Amino acid sequence: MVPKNHLTSSEIFAFLDLETTGGNASYDRITEVGIRFWQDVEIIGEYQTLVNPETRISSFIERLTGITNAMVADAPVFAGIADVLREKLDGVIFVAHNARFDYSFIKSEFRRLGQAFSAPVLCTVKLSRYLYPEFPRHNMDALIARYGLAQVRRHRAMGDVSAMFEFFRYAMADKGQERFEEALRFLLKRPSVPSHLPADILSDLPRCPGVYRFYGEKDVLLYVGKSTSIQQRVASHFSGDHNTNKDVRISESLRRVEWTETAGELGALLLELKQIKGLSPLFNRRSRAAKTLVSIELAANRSGYLQARLVREIEPHRLGDYYGLFRSKKDAERALRGIAQKNDLCNKLLGLEPEREGPCFQRTLGRCNGACDGGEDVVRYNLRAQIGFHGLRLKTWPWQGPVGVVERDQATGRTDILVIYNWLHITTVHHEDELHEISVHGARVTFDLDSYKLVVKALMGQDGRQLTVIELPGTGEPDVLMP
Ligand SMILES: [Zn+2]
Repeated sequence: MVPKNHLTSSEIFAFLDLETTGGNASYDRITEVGIRFWQDVEIIGEYQTLVNPETRISSFIERLTGITNAMVADAPVFAGIADVLREKLDGVIFVAHNARFDYSFIKSEFRRLGQAFSAPVLCTVKLSRYLYPEFPRHNMDALIARYGLAQVRRHRAMGDVSAMFEFFRYAMADKGQERFEEALRFLLKRPSVPSHLPADILSDLPRCPGVYRFYGEKDVLLYVGKSTSIQQRVASHFSGDHNTNKDVRISESLRRVEWTETAGELGALLLELKQIKGLSPLFNRRSRAAKTLVSIELAANRSGYLQARLVREIEPHRLGDYYGLFRSKKDAERALRGIAQKNDLCNKLLGLEPEREGPCFQRTLGRCNGACDGGEDVVRYNLRAQIGFHGLRLKTWPWQGPVGVVERDQATGRTDILVIYNWLHITTVHHEDELHEISVHGARVTFDLDSYKLVVKALMGQDGRQLTVIELPGTGEPDVLMP
């Protein structure tokens, strides 16, 4: 008798194999699905169908799988089996040999239909490697040869399902229930809360957006992260979904979790950036400090030609006068060289040649139209320069004064109003009434490239968020500190 608290008696395992038109889930398609359902040591059902991939099967794949274009011509397309499949796979453990492959194909097919799909995944390659580390190879052919599994029709879905299923049952009998269950639990990555945290920590965490902080021994800040669901994101750290060396080290050191709720994603993103920069957590990848932020300014020289100049002082209220924000002088010069080349602009006027009298070097080679020696019409050259730089021009702040960006979390009812001016986050309030008391005049903010980019993207709607923006009366300029 198998005790009921075992996975192998309580869960339904769906042994699944797919045939496809190729190896890439993002553009290759499924041509066959085979699934065997197993629960409490009984096969409880099978499902098998050819699928019309809505694309050509190459002759190489035809020969490999034996599934031809003619065979799938009248088969249902994935959309036609999606509902049945979803119902059959609901609540099962998804078992496949090299499961990442099959799982990503199923996910991609559902994604094409605008549907999410997820299931706990068990990979029988990993199971074999875990239980039989003494063997070097764990692919299907190796298992069939090693265990004398029924020689089935390889590379057809149900054939591979049978082989995988036989291996599973062989291993369970061979290793014994306890050892086998332990392997399943390990591989299924049932979220295991790090040993130094309370076992029910996850249920304490809110499901709303916000920022979480992981602390280690002696209250050292290990990591700052953000999510639209704090609970879900923290759980994924523990589930080993991203089982990187870094995650493992964080888990081992973790002693305490702290969080700050926000009403929305923009608030969470800005807070995360601020905390990563301000608190320097041990395990966050440092974004290279923007200590030497460089931009380009265009100004007419004595002859009226636009000349480029690198600047380190950026006045946020005239962002439209600057072109590009670069983390180093080298990056700025690389951009200048690109623009010069693409638009046939004068290297000397772009500051790419050492100061000296006379025309630029390119001019002497006949490759500059002559803005450096009056050879090109000034209006014409300036127009060409402006066109060349246009794409780099920083976003001019489109409102009269500061704005309040409203974020609201339906579930918690929380409202955050982010006060933003010239793309800088000044402060956050929670009621519209408080907006009247806000004065950006003299507020101290540090210009930060990452936040600037984030806010431009959010407010210009480039990431599709619909934000409510309240315009506030202009009340002076903040004190902007350059990094
Ligand atoms: Zn020139």
